[in-house]
Amino acid sequence: MAVVHRNFLQWATQLTTARSKSVLEGEEKMLHLDAQTHEGKASAVKLDKLPDHCPLCHYGIEAQLQNKAHVIEGYRGRLEVVLRCPREGCQSFFVARYKMSTYPGTSYFVFVGAAPFEPLDAEFSESMRKISPNFCEIANQAQKAEYQEWKLVAGPGYRKALEFLVRDYLCRARPADDGKIKNMQLGGCIASFVDNDKVREMAKRAAWLGNDETHYTRKWEDKDLEDLKKLIQLTVHWIEMEEMTKSVIEEMPEGKK
Ligand SMILES: [Zn+2]
Repeated sequence: MAVVHRNFLQWATQLTTARSKSVLEGEEKMLHLDAQTHEGKASAVKLDKLPDHCPLCHYGIEAQLQNKAHVIEGYRGRLEVVLRCPREGCQSFFVARYKMSTYPGTSYFVFVGAAPFEPLDAEFSESMRKISPNFCEIANQAQKAEYQEWKLVAGPGYRKALEFLVRDYLCRARPADDGKIKNMQLGGCIASFVDNDKVREMAKRAAWLGNDETHYTRKWEDKDLEDLKKLIQLTVHWIEMEEMTKSVIEEMPEGKK
């Protein structure tokens, strides 16, 4: 048993040595920079890469180094490097953040993310902006929260966007029922007033998942934010299809003789 144990250790040591060698060879090809510590001392650092996208304009770029890198020393060292976007329409400065590699025997920094990060606006069709500008605004804010990884507030945000979408769509389609549409519970409103089967079935399910985002207990445990977004997209899609169909019929009411 002891022999087997020793052989295993030898094999494991050989494997670790081989791996470390390849990681160290990779380390030689890394980017070398001169950074400064908190006390102003020079510190030569190695990093795995520079970001290949600008966190502000979101274009693919070759980030420009600004000769400013700062090492935050400690148990798990960190590194911050100042960069600039080379695009004429952007030219923004930003900071690439790194943390020390945890791979044994290595001493390079691994790219974590870039800041500040400005999420892009969501795009909506002209008809959707006309039907419910509130939906477009709220969904956009929910998406920004999601991009910032604030998923716990993004979910209720999408739920609120759905509520405005359904009520604005119905108030426009059925002005005579305006009072009831504005005051009834969302689920009841969808069941009572949405005539289009596809819109109703998607909006109903979106409301189920939306409620899970705001209530204390979840009913649909196997569904998540991605499912809610998909159902809202489908609701938007069928509302847009209905709107397009209506406008084509208005433009071409009868066949030409
Ligand atoms: Zn940029």
